[in-house]
Amino acid sequence: MEKSGKARKSLKASKELSQIIVDYYTECMQASKQGKPVGWMPPMNGAIEIFYAMDLQPFFPENWSPVCAAFGLAPKNFEVAENMGYSMDLCGYLRNIIGYVHGPMKDGDKTLGGIPEADLIISPGGGCNPLMKIFHELERRFPKAKVLRADLPQVPLQDIEPHHIDYAVSEMKRAIRFLEETTGRRMDYDKLKEVVRLSDRACELWNEIMSYRRCIPAPFSAAEIGIMFVVITRQGTRIAVDFLEKVLEEVRERAEENSGVIENEEIRLFWDNIPIWYNMGLLNYFEKMNGVVVAETYSAAFSLRLDTENPLEALAHKSLTSYPLVSCVSVEKRKEMVLKACKEYLIDGVILHRNKSCVPITLGQMDIKKELFQELGIPSLIIDADHMDERNFSVAQFQTRVDAFMEMLHKKSG
Ligand code: SF4
Repeated sequence: MEKSGKARKSLKASKELSQIIVDYYTECMQASKQGKPVGWMPPMNGAIEIFYAMDLQPFFPENWSPVCAAFGLAPKNFEVAENMGYSMDLCGYLRNIIGYVHGPMKDGDKTLGGIPEADLIISPGGGCNPLMKIFHELERRFPKAKVLRADLPQVPLQDIEPHHIDYAVSEMKRAIRFLEETTGRRMDYDKLKEVVRLSDRACELWNEIMSYRRCIPAPFSAAEIGIMFVVITRQGTRIAVDFLEKVLEEVRERAEENSGVIENEEIRLFWDNIPIWYNMGLLNYFEKMNGVVVAETYSAAFSLRLDTENPLEALAHKSLTSYPLVSCVSVEKRKEMVLKACKEYLIDGVILHRNKSCVPITLGQMDIKKELFQELGIPSLIIDADHMDERNFSVAQFQTRVDAFMEMLHKKSG
């Protein structure tokens, strides 16, 4: 059986991305050494913009997990977490980060230069239960860190009302007061406005970049999804905007030249659920059968535009809706999102990653599968795997099932 591993990239920008990743973690460590407060927080909510506007250093433990998977650290981290009593059925991000902070980090691991200790912990109110538990556990690991527990309700996307936004704005103000009191830094509201403008510009660029994947052939595939690193860690900065402008230019050029990922794109695929971080090369596996993964659920999480005239309201809205885009959302809404994407991206087949350790995003996949076929005649394939834990995945089984699925799709398309 063929082995996979790292994803094969076709965008030139992916080289620059590697440097951006290194620079980000270097900056986190330098901030810590220079006394700039480092705050650990979940991604995809308004805290990042507040941090950059106040010249504080944001750090994202959830995002460190794919780094651990890529560097082969995850198995060791799972061992540490399981020895502490954490069940292997729990979210892979949760087990990985808990294992890392109690194991390799304490032992002085220097992957990408290492990661800084937490001075501040921003514990989320939204998101899923495992995510909230990660931050509770981190409070025990970093007992000196000052903790802000955000109190954000989990409101289904379609049910958000003005009073939810008003309440979330009051939480944004509470977060700013907390940061001013604990760090002695003041919020500069003009700077916040500029940060939100940059954040919105990054989302606008992200949407435009993704829209080019509707072209046939698609100028890039899900194997490049690592570009989302900038919208997770650098949201609200020029670094994200400058990088995404370059990506857009390259993608536009490739689309205009009809330059695809492979020479003969015949089958267009959609990937549902989180990628398999320890084996991103699997996203290229479809290519030898003239298939390209042209869209995925995950990318929708970074498409939210912000009201740049009202920064606090914009961040409140973002904090209420970013997580629901991928997890805390009704099955009906998820179905609607997947079907809409499949129509827009002219999808022939869907890969439903049944993710053993992420129940929130896996929930409803059988309904989605049924609806895809009944409404759009699109066949789908369920792949049993795990976004972080290799022990819940068989490459051989993946390849056998994908081979049969692709053969069926080729026959169907004639
Ligand atoms: S949404 Fe899934 S992967 Fe993300 S933190 Fe929650 S359980 Fe883990």
